[in-house]
Amino acid sequence: MNLFFLNLTWSARWSLGGLILLSSLFAMGCQRPLAPEKSCQFYQNPDGQRVSWKKNLPVKLYVHSSVPTEAYQPLREAIDQYKELEKELGKPVFQIVGYGVDAPPTPSRDGNSMIYWLSDWEADRPSEQGRTTVYWSGNSIYEADMRINASPMSAFEFNFASDHNSPNGTDLRSLFVHELGHVLGLEHTDAPGSVMNTHLQEGTIRATLSAEDLNDLRCEYTPG
Ligand SMILES: [Zn+2]
Repeated sequence: MNLFFLNLTWSARWSLGGLILLSSLFAMGCQRPLAPEKSCQFYQNPDGQRVSWKKNLPVKLYVHSSVPTEAYQPLREAIDQYKELEKELGKPVFQIVGYGVDAPPTPSRDGNSMIYWLSDWEADRPSEQGRTTVYWSGNSIYEADMRINASPMSAFEFNFASDHNSPNGTDLRSLFVHELGHVLGLEHTDAPGSVMNTHLQEGTIRATLSAEDLNDLRCEYTPG
């Protein structure tokens, strides 16, 4: 069995984005080789298999106490963007099981999928608006931690507004929709209109899943 994790970042200003495979955590023998699959914009394990939550939906999410309460509504709106998939699955895709959770402000593999709002951010990565780390075993995700960059050095101006008519700064709902895509296993794409584009410019709203985004999710979660 192999355990892996990926860090997925969203960069506002740099052209360098995309997947960063940090390392495999450790490896043990006894894994049966799996047949490769087409990616459908999912990240794949070394055997070329899509990595996802498989049947283990909804993803149970905890909201860390660092997340300001005004971010709850944009988060809930972002989760709503997945309702088409939810309808086809016949069950929720995401479930928030706790708000304001007291835990160390250091994302780690602890068995809980948590959303963090971090004022400490790597000094050499100031352009990242958010990052989702996904942990999996074989081809199944078992934890995903999302962090939003609230570092004073980056000084992103997040737009919490729910009407989204005149966005200033970084639209938080769009950022959550993107990071939730990573939570499900999607990777970046340059396809026009996709919520999984690497970059989100300030003042841009990109919160609605494109037809292609939905088809990618169907390919893995509701095949046939
Ligand atoms: Zn991303």
